[in-house]
Amino acid sequence: TPEPPVLRLLNVESAYGPIRAIRGVSLQVQRGEIATVLGSNGAGKTTILKTISGILDPRKGSVEFKGEDITARDPAEIVQRGLVHVPEGREVFPLLSVRDNLLMGAYTRRDRDAVARDLEMVYAYFPILRERAQQDAGLLSGGQQQMLAISRALMAEPELILLDEPSLGLSPKLTKEIFEIIVRINRERGTTILLVEQNANMALNAADYGYVLENGRIVMEDRCDRLREKEDIKEFYLGMK
Ligand code: ATP
Repeated sequence: TPEPPVLRLLNVESAYGPIRAIRGVSLQVQRGEIATVLGSNGAGKTTILKTISGILDPRKGSVEFKGEDITARDPAEIVQRGLVHVPEGREVFPLLSVRDNLLMGAYTRRDRDAVARDLEMVYAYFPILRERAQQDAGLLSGGQQQMLAISRALMAEPELILLDEPSLGLSPKLTKEIFEIIVRINRERGTTILLVEQNANMALNAADYGYVLENGRIVMEDRCDRLREKEDIKEFYLGMK
């Protein structure tokens, strides 16, 4: 039997009171790939990630991780299984040092040597975090906090990372740097990544497979090299007309 996809959503509907934010979303992420969900402001991208990581319970549908149903499981249990969410706005602990923020990501792990090795690994990806290791995380710039949030997720040894708008609030130069490292993490560690973005250009360059979300529904999906060539995508998401 073939391996199940790392992540599978089937007809997921999530709402905030009367507001139906996602309306029957189905998608899959295969092991080792970078997948992306594109959509404008308010399309429902953040809601999809919250539903996957158990922060929000769906009204309908199911979420499977590695073939097992994790719908509406406790968020801590979902992290424990290897699925980690980097939320929009990063949410680092501002009064803890950079190093302690990183160690928080590994708090359930018992193998201290492996944790120490992973600390070295994230410092190799983001050398600025080693330089700032003893400083309070609240003193970092927005871009550095994004690096810290991604690194803290890596400290949990995830098989799947959910990234909410990694480019939010960053300069084009920093955005490019962050995306290069996201791709390196995927290639070098084999970590599967699902990222949601308004920056379609960056997302389509980095990802293998993409979904387009409008008003809580997936309206298009394809390999990213094909999506980039579609007229609607060029016009509405890449601003090429
Ligand atoms: P953004 O990039 O602005 O975060 P998004 O695509 O991630 O956009 P969501 O944040 O998932 O969109 O929001 C989808 C819809 O749900 C929007 O109409 C939004 O106003 C609504 N919504 C989101 N969060 C809440 C909430 N906590 N309470 C009520 N409505 C919400």
